[in-house]
Amino acid sequence: MASYVYDFDEPAEGGRDLLGGKGIGLAEMTQLGVPVPAGFTITTDACRAYMELGDFPPGLAEEVDEHLARLERTTGKRFGDPKDPLLVSVRSGAAISMPGMMDTILNVGLGDEAAAGGERFVLDSYRRLIQMYGETVDHIDPHRFSDALDEDDLPKTIDAFKRIYKEETGRDFPQDAKEQLGRAVRAVFESWNTPRAQRYRRHHDIPDDLGTAVNVVQMVFGNKGERSGTGVAFTRDPSTGEAGLYGEFLADAQGEDVVAGIRTPEKIEAMRERLPEAFEQFVETIRRLEEHYRDMQDIEFTVEDGKLYLLQTRSAKRTAAAALKAAVDMVDEGLITREEAVARIDPAQLDQLLHPRIDPDASYDVAAKGLNASPGAASGQIVFDADTAEQRGKDGDAVILVRWETTPDDIHGMIAAQGILTAHGGMTSHAAVVARGMGKPCVAGCEALSVDVDAKTAALNGTKLGEGDVITIDGGTGEVIIGEVALIPPEINEDFETVLGWADDLRRMKVRANADTPEDAAKAREFGAQGIGLCRTEHMFMAEDRLPVVREMIMAGDEDERRAALDKLLPHQQSDFEGIFEAMAGLPVTIRLLDPPLHEFLPSLEEARDDRMRSRIRALQEANPMLGTRGCRLGLQWPEIYEMQVRAIIRAAAAVRDRTGDAPLVEIMHPLVGFQEELRRLRELTIATAEEEADVEYLVGTMIELPRACIRADEIAEEADFFSFGTNDLTQTALGFSRDDAEGKFLTYYLQDGVLERNPFETLDQSGVGDLMAIAVERGRETKPDIKLGICGEHGGEPMSVRFCHTLGLDYVSCSPYRVPLARLAAAQAALAESGVEAVSVGG
Ligand code: PEP
Ligand code: MG
Repeated sequence: MASYVYDFDEPAEGGRDLLGGKGIGLAEMTQLGVPVPAGFTITTDACRAYMELGDFPPGLAEEVDEHLARLERTTGKRFGDPKDPLLVSVRSGAAISMPGMMDTILNVGLGDEAAAGGERFVLDSYRRLIQMYGETVDHIDPHRFSDALDEDDLPKTIDAFKRIYKEETGRDFPQDAKEQLGRAVRAVFESWNTPRAQRYRRHHDIPDDLGTAVNVVQMVFGNKGERSGTGVAFTRDPSTGEAGLYGEFLADAQGEDVVAGIRTPEKIEAMRERLPEAFEQFVETIRRLEEHYRDMQDIEFTVEDGKLYLLQTRSAKRTAAAALKAAVDMVDEGLITREEAVARIDPAQLDQLLHPRIDPDASYDVAAKGLNASPGAASGQIVFDADTAEQRGKDGDAVILVRWETTPDDIHGMIAAQGILTAHGGMTSHAAVVARGMGKPCVAGCEALSVDVDAKTAALNGTKLGEGDVITIDGGTGEVIIGEVALIPPEINEDFETVLGWADDLRRMKVRANADTPEDAAKAREFGAQGIGLCRTEHMFMAEDRLPVVREMIMAGDEDERRAALDKLLPHQQSDFEGIFEAMAGLPVTIRLLDPPLHEFLPSLEEARDDRMRSRIRALQEANPMLGTRGCRLGLQWPEIYEMQVRAIIRAAAAVRDRTGDAPLVEIMHPLVGFQEELRRLRELTIATAEEEADVEYLVGTMIELPRACIRADEIAEEADFFSFGTNDLTQTALGFSRDDAEGKFLTYYLQDGVLERNPFETLDQSGVGDLMAIAVERGRETKPDIKLGICGEHGGEPMSVRFCHTLGLDYVSCSPYRVPLARLAAAQAALAESGVEAVSVGG
């Protein structure tokens, strides 16, 4: 029968899953010959059995006794001995670290007799035992003990603690060492299921059924006087990654004093003077540990009477900057390979470096929380409309645009603002998508915010705010803060470039950017984009000098009038395309023809200038415009719109080719196609129009953003040179979740209540939407084996979704310029995972 208990020097098959992180660390250190206290680990199997039975499983108590007896032999002390007894700590240790979530009890095995008349540290140990035991095993309110603590009179404190224990439990503090141990182990098992541990696991996606291991470890004392002490140390600086020893030391103290912050520790160098021999041994030991684990370590240690013990070692949590520096250095030192270095960087954490963020040392109160729609932090004065934002921006003020939600009408204000805060809308709302594209912080769907645009006031969780009041938003966390908070600027550096360069050598998928302007295209290139996967042409229609012409086109009474307006738009579109082609010289550019419903370009009914416009607005009004006259349906109903766009594209391509000698790689994309016949007609229109213009090479393809398009991809592929998955609309249509309304409403509830684990507009719903994509890939390739496949929905820049796209066999992902670096890394990690090198996150 398999054992439930293993000594640290006893080989166990189950590794970390069985022994937990702390247990496996102690076992490995013991086996490496590193000085650690003796002890044994009760496995996670035992914990799971305990949770099932509500009691120790048969045989466990006997096994613990056997290992305890062995520990007595190793240490030469007896458990429960009234004179100089063996004392142990009972420590939790799950397979995945859950810092501070579960319980530990020190000094188990001490009783009245052994403590009586003992040295100060023995008395101190006893009062700590009663306190920890009372709090953890019997759930006594910690305040009861802390209120009665008198460090100057320990015998009195012990009496008081024992009295409190009896008052609270109706029993005397147990004197039987084995009873103490048994109940301590149970308490640690049970601490796995406390509400705070459950909440932590839910937040960090840790399964509930793992259970924790329990480590029973010989106590060593750092509080035995001058030649004792305790500390924590990192093998490299966890905030910069700089090589060297970083840490803290506390003379004549126990580890919990460091953690609890009761006394202020000294720098680790102080140990060199106080305990030179132990220090030297420590430095040598941790160097070996780093070499063994081939990663930066975070180590806890104690010196008892000059003798060094390591209590724990683990991969150090680190900032993104430190992760990059340590990875690059470790490759230089020959400690790890480039592949391992790439696998160790958390793409989501890298985001920190690309945007300004709140100084981690700043203290502030969070007034409200919304969706973390676009990363980065910004402080500025509140403005409630885009015109004011633009004006104040021009005056050099830092402003935050605060809206119920944004529309294409707000673009100029968004450009001028430092950040955007909306009360409504989700991760693919206009505000979120546009802010991400601009690399600007955005907190969206902040339900605690109400906005009164006319009165120019807002309320944030009840606090009234007016124009000019300063707020800070953190688009990486969704936090909204009243007032200004210190920020840290972006930190892209050489290490960043080095690691991304390695990632580029390892990945198979290409990474493109979603960019609508020459400036965005240039930015995207700087970040390493290999082309444009989505240029949304409607954004060009929104510019101040074009919107009136677009409105003219929409208001046109007949085709001739419409064509006349379109003729005026053509040169604008052409010059935009020329700029983008030049910025992306030598790289492919996918241009999507007009997609949004036309009413988006008209003012609201109230703002309409005359009856004619009002009646046009009414005629275009739809109950469900996202499922209405939009996408290729526009192009089929009013072909002259798409004709104009195709003409502009082809003319721009010819002009750039003639000017630079470099022919752009043009891809013309039709949105919202569901039927082969739609694309057949539009392909025909595209080719016929292009032929009238110039002899330029181009591809014709389609967005795949409707379930029908996925299912009938075999037919659609006959008309397409490429597919680009529009997973924003595909998520909306496959799940029946409105992009505009789900977040902040039922979806928020779903996420809070655990109906769904993740927001499907942020992280691809792999088993639903992902399956539809798999069908489309398979059927599309059946018809056309070499059809080009990409993704341009917001998921194209989300690390988990990028990995999924790799396994689907897509040729590229496309995302906003600021997410291109993350996508490069995630694509490399996907390729590495395929060859067996799994990504490991060690982020802080
Ligand atoms: C999509 O639907 O995923 C997409 C990229 O198009 P848009 O967000 O413009 O609808
Ligand atoms: Mg779409």
